[in-house]
Amino acid sequence: DPQIYTFPGFGTDKYPNLMLRGAGDLDNWHLKTYEQKHEGYVALKAALKMEPVAVVEEMKTSGIRGRGGAGFPCGLKWSFMPKDTPERKFTRYLVCNGDEGEPGTFKDRAILEYNPHQLIEGMIIGGWAMQCKLGFVYIRGEFLWLIEKLEAAIQQARDAGYLGKNILGTGWDYDILVYRGAGAYICGEETALLNSLEGRRGEPRVKPPFPAAKGAFGQPTTVNNVETLAAVPPILRMGGAEYAKLGTPKNTGTRIFGVSGHVKRPGLFELPLGTPMDFVVNELAGGSSTGKKIKAIIPGGASAPMFDEKDFDCPLDFDTVKARGSMAGSGGLICMDEDTCMVQATLRLIRFYAHESCGQCTPCREGCNWMEMVLYRIEHGQGRMEDLDLLASLTPRIGLRTLCPLGDAACGPMDSALQKFRHEFEHHITHKTCYATGSRLLSTA
Ligand code: NAD
Ligand code: SF4
Repeated sequence: DPQIYTFPGFGTDKYPNLMLRGAGDLDNWHLKTYEQKHEGYVALKAALKMEPVAVVEEMKTSGIRGRGGAGFPCGLKWSFMPKDTPERKFTRYLVCNGDEGEPGTFKDRAILEYNPHQLIEGMIIGGWAMQCKLGFVYIRGEFLWLIEKLEAAIQQARDAGYLGKNILGTGWDYDILVYRGAGAYICGEETALLNSLEGRRGEPRVKPPFPAAKGAFGQPTTVNNVETLAAVPPILRMGGAEYAKLGTPKNTGTRIFGVSGHVKRPGLFELPLGTPMDFVVNELAGGSSTGKKIKAIIPGGASAPMFDEKDFDCPLDFDTVKARGSMAGSGGLICMDEDTCMVQATLRLIRFYAHESCGQCTPCREGCNWMEMVLYRIEHGQGRMEDLDLLASLTPRIGLRTLCPLGDAACGPMDSALQKFRHEFEHHITHKTCYATGSRLLSTA
């Protein structure tokens, strides 16, 4: 299980725990604990007294951007949902994306484990704001132990009148259903998720139409990540304007960073956006666990291009990380020390994408396999110098030429590894030994 760190100073104005409130308190999935210790359902009661459109405005004021990875403004996304007209009544759905599958990302499971009612409350508030008929939690199938808890928490919310018919006397009916995924990474992509939810093959759809226009069962749907929805109750409790003071002006609030790899204290840290990466890695996560220098950090889950030392001071917000050539993505920081073979690390990443490609688009299906094969031979001592140009020539033929971002995601680690650690690839090819470890490559050993 991931460690959740609440350092001295956390839970304060500077480092507030908004989503990880109650972290470590395994009792927090009981409604009574959530209500008595964590201001549970206070925000919902306030929201139900507001006009739905005012709740959407509050979300816009907060400035919160989606925490799944893309960083799309949440209030704006909610406002895309079509309103009823005298001529047309819509059946709207809210879908919570709990299919957390990005390598290096393990934040949503902590919310599901320690704060499920805050997610449920966020989903009810979202349902009210967009006047939805039903909410779905699409949850990663491997989170079996969390699914039982989540369902029990939803039942408690039903019993308390927060879900079901005529919620708290408003005349509004709404419920939440849990749907288990079956282990495909691609089902975390929102349209593949919707296909899977409908009982079809989990393959991405062409966008547009975006789910807000045509989503689950052909109806207007908003898909939000677990962390985004869990942020809704604190936003309403403190007010959008107050929330917007956290973080930076265009990257507001806090988010949960997951730090893994060669650090002394791997785990989860909820921090304001814009916190410098070296502070998170060196101060909070304790720096290198091996005594060797950290040479590469993937700043936002496996899909994000790698950073080398010169970018370790990067503030962790969507815009700055992008401006420096990577992406803040899902907030997972993967740290690799000097002894990490970058050829092997890249092969592991690309093998993942090749395996998880749904196969619909030729550039992704074939390109990821090609990259894997070429990397495999470099890793095993049979690489040729031309292979490096071949690899570099593959990514522009995959990126931005596919239906969904999986193809682009595979290109990020490949390109950045080649640009920043090319000497390691060359060393494999010319010396038939590993630059990082010094060991002889397998096929020549
Ligand atoms: P996206 O930019 O296509 O869309 C972001 C969201 O905004 C979507 O919900 C989309 O429907 C909505 N949207 C965008 N433009 C719109 C418009 N014009 N009208 C209406 N709605 C619009 O990105 P994405 O494919 O949703 O996400 C990609 C990200 O997912 C990557 O950056 C990666 O970091 C992340 N990711 C996360 C995980 C995880 O486990 N958390 C796994 C894989 C990938
Ligand atoms: Fe499937 Fe890859 Fe195309 Fe996405 S990019 S739709 S995963 S083949």
